[in-house]
Amino acid sequence: MCHCQFKNLKDVCKYFRNHWEPIGPLWSNFGRCYKHGDSETNNLIFSFFHRLKYQFLCGIRNRRLDHLIDVLLNKTDKYFNIIQDLQSAGRVFNPLECKMEEIKKSAQRMLDNGWATAVTAASKETYIYNVPSENNPHVVYCVCPAEQFCNCLAGTRGRTCKHLILLSLLTCGDGETFPDMDTQLQAHAKNLYSISTKPKKKH
Ligand SMILES: [Zn+2]
Repeated sequence: MCHCQFKNLKDVCKYFRNHWEPIGPLWSNFGRCYKHGDSETNNLIFSFFHRLKYQFLCGIRNRRLDHLIDVLLNKTDKYFNIIQDLQSAGRVFNPLECKMEEIKKSAQRMLDNGWATAVTAASKETYIYNVPSENNPHVVYCVCPAEQFCNCLAGTRGRTCKHLILLSLLTCGDGETFPDMDTQLQAHAKNLYSISTKPKKKH
């Protein structure tokens, strides 16, 4: 598309082809390996700004700062609380909640099929676990609830995955292998602290 639109600007096309096209996948993956609220687009932000500009600020530019703060603190908050209440009452469809329900169901299915005994601790220092794949018996995922990390496909794309939900279900049970999140976070913090304060070797 770029080449057609800018075909008369040969240097621009050359620059784009040499410097941007080869790293296209990096751009499209940017930010996706981190938690991103299971939203694959930035349309949510655009949609919020559109609502803020036209619904809450009535399309009038350069509002006074105190008015803008008042709108942000009082009006938008109240509005989204009402939306949340409607969603939890089932009056407004919440696609993310539906997706989450599906993931929870999958995690529960794994638990029902005996995954509690299949999950093993890879490290007690930081509570990292090995979780066998549900579909491929030769694959085991590395899951760290404290960092909310899992190296399955969904996890590495920053999505909430069934393995993390499964671990959150297991932390309600056995206190030694699967202690509560506070204990896991503390162990993790302790480990990070010990790494950062380890004296460096002198050469
Ligand atoms: Zn996973």
